[in-house]
Amino acid sequence: MQRSILKTAILQLTQKRFFKKQPVRVRFAPSPTGYLHLGGLRTALYNYLFARKNNGTFILRIEDTDQTRVVPEAVEQLHDDLLWAGIIPDEDPIRFGPTGPYVQSERLEIYGEQVIKLLENGSAYHCFCSERRLEMLRREAARASQVPKYDNRCRHLSQENVKEKLKNGEKHCIRFKLSPTPDPFKDMVYGDITFDVSVSEGDPIIMKSDGYPTYHFANVVDDHLMEISHVLRGVEWQISTPKHLLLYKAFGWTPPQFGHLPLILNSDGSKLSKRQDDIRVDFYRKSGIFPIALINYITHAGGGFEREQGPQECYSYADLIKQFSVEKINVNSSKLRPEKLLEFNQLELCSLLENEKNNKIFVQSVIKLVSDSFPERKADGSLKLDEDHILLTLKWAKSRINKLTDLVSPDLAFLWVVPPFSQNLKELKHAETVQVLSEKLSDVEENNFNKDSLKNYLKEFANNNGVPFAELMRTLRSLLSGLKDGPGVAEMMEILGRKRTVDRLKRVSDESSARNHRSIQGI
Ligand code: GLU
Repeated sequence: MQRSILKTAILQLTQKRFFKKQPVRVRFAPSPTGYLHLGGLRTALYNYLFARKNNGTFILRIEDTDQTRVVPEAVEQLHDDLLWAGIIPDEDPIRFGPTGPYVQSERLEIYGEQVIKLLENGSAYHCFCSERRLEMLRREAARASQVPKYDNRCRHLSQENVKEKLKNGEKHCIRFKLSPTPDPFKDMVYGDITFDVSVSEGDPIIMKSDGYPTYHFANVVDDHLMEISHVLRGVEWQISTPKHLLLYKAFGWTPPQFGHLPLILNSDGSKLSKRQDDIRVDFYRKSGIFPIALINYITHAGGGFEREQGPQECYSYADLIKQFSVEKINVNSSKLRPEKLLEFNQLELCSLLENEKNNKIFVQSVIKLVSDSFPERKADGSLKLDEDHILLTLKWAKSRINKLTDLVSPDLAFLWVVPPFSQNLKELKHAETVQVLSEKLSDVEENNFNKDSLKNYLKEFANNNGVPFAELMRTLRSLLSGLKDGPGVAEMMEILGRKRTVDRLKRVSDESSARNHRSIQGI
């Protein structure tokens, strides 16, 4: 804690940042209670796009006033995930800015000063109700099948009474006087929304007895002091907005404009649950998804973009900024479509492979991926990981894989690893013919060692040797890849290249001479 205050002070001194005259200032305000998930990423992204579209400022603010829920390292993880996704704040706890600090627990003094204003103008009051009394109210409500609600008792304490209690050091919190909110507010996404909070809630606590503000209070104070112009946040916060508007009114401040983003649902229509791994951004990071593919995936679900119909594209940030339009955001909950994510990832993979400047990065990534996936083969030096082979393989594989990690899936492992030669030679049909073939293939010229020529060659060879083509192919496929089905045999041969193809097939002759040897020796 001490260190972070010191760090903040140093940053304040060394990194003078100034306000620019910009009409749009938006923020992403997560609570550091766990991993960044898809809903949070969508909120951050839409704010970011809105800021960039309007030449505005995007702020990251950490809302950690509920210290009991704070998860250590969550802030760092969050930052990392946002940067990975390409969402880079203009002002944040690390780089600071003119309206910091950007972590609420470092702003307690500010909330203390602001709450006095509400106490002084009569919009807030001290509440001395004990936890026991509140519990009793809750139980009574439950017995009468009513929604539990504070009965606002301390609103009516006399000033002398309050003074006396404060003098005696009685434990207290501060509550905000809710008034009815029968008028609608304009939601940038949903239009007119009417919700009277005072019907379902008693006066809310804005400052807890431990001196920490509650979410609603800190959120409003910060949005005002950070000069936030538009609040784009999840629809689950929509019912809090009338309360926030009352707070603005009590302070005499002009509120920002509010827009709420619809829920994102799983493909089967169920709600995203914290227990699902696949709602965490770092899950996608670790499973070989490109950031921009994930970004396209979540934008695909919720709308918000002016687009012409056309073939599927994985849009760049520049495109998304151009297309972004709050008016186009769907008001209905939107379902994720995981198959789209893979489609976007493949599109991005293909487009990255088109640029030769990426070759080095791809080669390094594949070397690491393959070495990590087959550590024993790495140790015995049998992995073929030269640059040319990797690039050729990538070119061949790009239409077959959605992500780089697919390259080491069981279906494609044959690209790197010689499949075990476990078949009993007796069960392997046409072993002798394969032996002949392996010798003949050594003589095929390198530039004829391609799918089309090989296909004809193999057909002719099967014919000339009087073996059924399909049976021969089955044997070859098994020797080359260990697979029962998969890419065509000629195609496999092309991608493995002449030497590796011949080496894999030749194992038949090696094995049969070993068998002959064994039988001569009587082993
Ligand atoms: N801290 C809130 C959250 O975790 C922010 C809500 C808002 O954006 O106002 O989602």
